[in-house]
Amino acid sequence: MEAVALPKPLAGEASDWLPQLKAVLETKEQWSEPLHNIVLKLKANTPLSLEDGLVLYHHPNLSEVGSLADAVRTARFGRQAFFNSNVHINQTNICVLACRFCAFRRGPKAADAYAMGVEEYVEDLGKYAHAVDEVHSVGGLHPDWDVVHYETMFKQAKEAYPYVSIKALTAVEIKHLAQRSNITTKSVLARLRDAGLTSLPGGGAEILDDDIRAIICNGKESSEEYLRIHREAHEVGLPSNCTMLFGTVENLEQRLQHMISLRELQASTSGFQCFVPYPFLPDHTRLPEAQLATGTEILRTIAVARLMLNNIPHIKAYRMNIGDHVAELALQFGADDIDGTVQKESIMHLAGSTAPLDHDRSRLARLIQDAGCQPVQRDTVYSTFTPYSAPEPSHRRLRMAQ
Ligand code: SF4
Repeated sequence: MEAVALPKPLAGEASDWLPQLKAVLETKEQWSEPLHNIVLKLKANTPLSLEDGLVLYHHPNLSEVGSLADAVRTARFGRQAFFNSNVHINQTNICVLACRFCAFRRGPKAADAYAMGVEEYVEDLGKYAHAVDEVHSVGGLHPDWDVVHYETMFKQAKEAYPYVSIKALTAVEIKHLAQRSNITTKSVLARLRDAGLTSLPGGGAEILDDDIRAIICNGKESSEEYLRIHREAHEVGLPSNCTMLFGTVENLEQRLQHMISLRELQASTSGFQCFVPYPFLPDHTRLPEAQLATGTEILRTIAVARLMLNNIPHIKAYRMNIGDHVAELALQFGADDIDGTVQKESIMHLAGSTAPLDHDRSRLARLIQDAGCQPVQRDTVYSTFTPYSAPEPSHRRLRMAQ
């Protein structure tokens, strides 16, 4: 299996970010006493411990935690906020599993079950291909599809639209294809890479704690399998994202241990590009005991992630899940990346998301600029960056702002 060089691990960040961070942290006269030790560690780029994470979660001054996260994000990326032009095509909602938090999956006989054939998938992509440079495809675990099905799908999509990157298939989908095809997960990854797969999304991590997984997604890949499959992806040259679904039945220690597990894998592979924390959306799902995250908890979790994950470059505000208003605020709480123009999406919208789907670049850029950031369009693997300016707001809006 031939390895492919991964992109630079800290793509897009300032090379002198650490001295800049030290300078910024020292300009503030005094951080609250409970944060002193954490500030010292940040200045030395020492990984924060689980106990440090608890201090950040319990600190009464949320805006101070946000300021700390913003200082780190600003040292690394200035006021840049990255986005890309993408479409989410969910290829099937038929799934052999039934995770309790999932509002998307259907049994094969459900009236609204669907499975896009290869031609239909490529045709659907064609409706958006003029406006996107990435297709994000995840779906259910279809009982009949194997690795050959996805090889054919990716090859044909790539032949039709060579400039569109394919970011597709979560770890559990890779595991399912390996079982269906009677080959290893690493072979699945290498074959799909050769068929045109660019990178893996991070979905399915949920909380990397097997007791929690037994409650919310019984039958899905274990914590160890999620980490192993991402390690294998990095080893065959496929960068990936990683995620955290919070606000179900986990506690703060389990969230922090989840971040530490991802950080430890990243220390050996450098293959994670972006961490995407998103709260559980309850509509139509079967998890009544979930302790839903509030708006401030979402912002705090994004800030804590920025501070805990010192070796994962990008923290994403996933507007499909947290909505445009919180996503805008998140850009001041440690997030530097926002997903995306997104022409189409099913999974989060079936769970209750009301985030607009038809953002063109100008609207997204306006949202980023209103948050005090400079919009920068990136590619899937964070290797090319193009500053983007939104058109001036209307005269009426400018008058209202005076
Ligand atoms: S989360 Fe994924 S694996 Fe679980 S039921 Fe939904 S589609 Fe299937």
